[in-house]
Amino acid sequence: MPSWEAFLNENQPRFIDELKQFLRFPSISSLPEHAEDVKQAAEWVAGRLRAADIENVQVLSTGGHPVVYGDWLHAPDKPVVMIYGHFDVQPVDPIDLWTNPPFDPIVKDNCIYARGASDNKGNLFLTILAVEALLQTEGSLPVNLKFFFEGQEEIGSPQMPEFLPGHKDLFACDMVISADGGQWDQDQPQLTVGLRGLCAVQIDVRTARRDVHSGSYGGTFLNPIHGLARIIDSMRDSEGKILVEGFYDSVRALSESERAQIAEIPYSEQEFKEEIGIPETAGEPGFTTHERMWVRPTLDVNGIWGGFQGEGLKTVIPSEAHAKISCRLVPDQDPGKIADRLVAHVKRYAPTGIAVEVKPVESKADPYLIPLDHAGNKAAVAVLKALYGKDPYYIRKGFTIPVCGILLSALGAHTVNFAFSLKDENIHAPDEFFRLRSFELGQRAYCMLLHELGG
Ligand SMILES: [Zn+2]
Repeated sequence: MPSWEAFLNENQPRFIDELKQFLRFPSISSLPEHAEDVKQAAEWVAGRLRAADIENVQVLSTGGHPVVYGDWLHAPDKPVVMIYGHFDVQPVDPIDLWTNPPFDPIVKDNCIYARGASDNKGNLFLTILAVEALLQTEGSLPVNLKFFFEGQEEIGSPQMPEFLPGHKDLFACDMVISADGGQWDQDQPQLTVGLRGLCAVQIDVRTARRDVHSGSYGGTFLNPIHGLARIIDSMRDSEGKILVEGFYDSVRALSESERAQIAEIPYSEQEFKEEIGIPETAGEPGFTTHERMWVRPTLDVNGIWGGFQGEGLKTVIPSEAHAKISCRLVPDQDPGKIADRLVAHVKRYAPTGIAVEVKPVESKADPYLIPLDHAGNKAAVAVLKALYGKDPYYIRKGFTIPVCGILLSALGAHTVNFAFSLKDENIHAPDEFFRLRSFELGQRAYCMLLHELGG
């Protein structure tokens, strides 16, 4: 029987052809006219799992885009590991900026170009290939395995908070390995250990029954835009520290070693400023830019509107003004509690003479942190070290991947990030591509990881 390495080497041409088939489905989850394509992609994934000898494969309905499940549970006394990925993709516009049609994959310079190549079909598919290689060459797997592939990640997994708790037994596992993510660069591995959460409020301010003439009425009552500006100004000091009462109460302090891990990650102030086109960085005193971006909470006005916006001048006192404010949250802040604190703050600081309404916005997410000594992390580090010859950077992300929090609260399982995209692969943009080198490296990495987890 050949080794799994030999099996992978021999089968790369077939795997690339199959990846092309997968990439031809325009499985754009945000566009209703592509719902059938998302379903077709799900059926393709299910078929490919069956062909790899995965059992109990099912396409499950969720009330939205489907989920694909499959398992192989014949390793008594070994952990149950669940592999996560998504087969939906982002829209393709502006379509005229694509060199090649987005759903007609081509290989050029050892890269495969198509929407979804890097995010996330290439990464998802390589996990199936690794499992196929192990089953074909060793006849069994080192751990019990489940697959959870969803078709709604790119729209924020809206059905998952209900779907997963409703299928607790089916998806029960000891840990999740996410194939959605990437590495620092071709030579440097990374391990994502934390994500920020999210909560938001909308503020609506009203005064007069209608807009009134600023000459006839100006100076006689509080302009709602001025009132709103005062509320917003009360929420942060001039340097960016957040003044909402109790906001920082449950923020977990960073240990010296966590700060050292973050400080080790290369950062150029000049490149950062050039990348986004800002004259200088700013933020909460006492923290580096990476710390402000990854491990400190924020409060930002995302939008503000009211009054006259047209050309020229309209001398009016508007009757209303509005703002949307969101916070990025860190462990152990609770999105619901922080939203309540924002509401209380706005009510307390609302000037008299205006009617203020403030309410939490629906979308919210828990911050996420996986313990550094988690068994899955340790296994991932061992494999990355063996493959790259160096320790990974331990990074956090400033944004939210809701599914990590949902899996933790629904199943009690942490998610280890183990994927092989690189930053320059144009994900969510025209000419998305995935390196075939990463495609192959990922297959080997997953074979090694499953052995490490079973060992
Ligand atoms: Zn994406």
